[in-house]
Amino acid sequence: MKIVSKLPEVGTTIFSIMSSMAAQYDAINLSQGYPDFDVPSELAERLNHYTVSGYNQYPPMHGVAYLREQIARKVNELYAVSANVDSEITITSGATEALFVAIQTLVGNGDEVIVFDPAFDSYDPAIRLAGGKTIHIPLSGNSFSIDWERVRESITPRTKAIIINSPHNPTGSVISRVDLDQLAELASNNDLVVISDEVYEHMVFDGQQHNTVAAHPGLRDRSFVISSFGKTYHATGWKVGYCIAAPALTIEFRKIHQFVTFTTHTPTQWAIADYMDHHPEHHRGLPAFYQEKRDLFSQALKEIGFGLVPSRGTYFQVVTYDALSDLPDIEFVKVLTQKVGVAAIPVSVFCDAPAELSLVRFCFAKKNDTLLEAAHRLESHFS
Ligand code: PMP
Ligand code: GLN
Repeated sequence: MKIVSKLPEVGTTIFSIMSSMAAQYDAINLSQGYPDFDVPSELAERLNHYTVSGYNQYPPMHGVAYLREQIARKVNELYAVSANVDSEITITSGATEALFVAIQTLVGNGDEVIVFDPAFDSYDPAIRLAGGKTIHIPLSGNSFSIDWERVRESITPRTKAIIINSPHNPTGSVISRVDLDQLAELASNNDLVVISDEVYEHMVFDGQQHNTVAAHPGLRDRSFVISSFGKTYHATGWKVGYCIAAPALTIEFRKIHQFVTFTTHTPTQWAIADYMDHHPEHHRGLPAFYQEKRDLFSQALKEIGFGLVPSRGTYFQVVTYDALSDLPDIEFVKVLTQKVGVAAIPVSVFCDAPAELSLVRFCFAKKNDTLLEAAHRLESHFS
């Protein structure tokens, strides 16, 4: 039997490769983005509670109402956004599913979707599986900002959607209100839909606010706004996310969601809803919690001789390393993992065209002791 691959050039994702290399060489794993500390104990207890109390059958296809209500409350409190619990919020099996479904909802044969490089690795395969074509536009300069003139020039009659991601994985850049104004103008003039990946919405530093697409009047009704509880509750393995979109978009989104997964894991939805209801301080504390880790680790990296790309959000720190090595980033992370004992992600794998700079990404969602030990290993190797 011969099977024709739909993604012939795709192998295993860089996250799996680097995490397994980290395990093989007993390296501290700062590659794949996940915390090495646990979910809040009360949240784990709530999950146990709902599991043993019989909340184990299919929930509604679009998600448990209690959780949708908590999301509506949160976006209202934080961003003054009103989202209809029944017609605009859908619970998904992680943000990955929401992104995949949003892309399948919009994209058909020959349609074009604009993404910004470095881009999270799931966008491009999802676009191509839908029969579409990915138009890669590199982010500009050391601040990794969007060149809107270039976006304007890249729009064709086949352009269907633009995917943005702020706070941005891997670079840690964040989008401004002016960026959203530019996006709204282009989207409205060209009748485009925006897919906004906001999974790091609660990790924005230095007193800045997250600019959600959902709060922008020109974007609110032409966007899929996607987030993930995995990041917010230190529970990346729970794979629960959500999508907020206007009713017309949500109707089409759910037609596909119901055949991709039908529903998302029931007791986890109840546990998260309950915890959100009683502990809204959790997400409010995340900027300070992660900013302390960013500062601890980035200061150490700087002293070792790495160049820092400003991390304004996410739990990632991207660095240059030209003072330490001439190796390309894919080779450099192998040395880091195998010889130094600290695993990282090479940024070039998120780019279509070769990047001008060699960059690697470290995840600082780790206990302070883990970060200090990683810094110590790097310092011992490079000094
Ligand atoms: N988008 C970005 C930018 C991410 O970093 C991640 C994290 N894996 C996801 C989407 C997927 O989130 P989830 O784990 O909820 O599927
Ligand atoms: N979002 C995480 C990262 O960027 C990992 C996602 C994954 O493993 N697919 O590291």
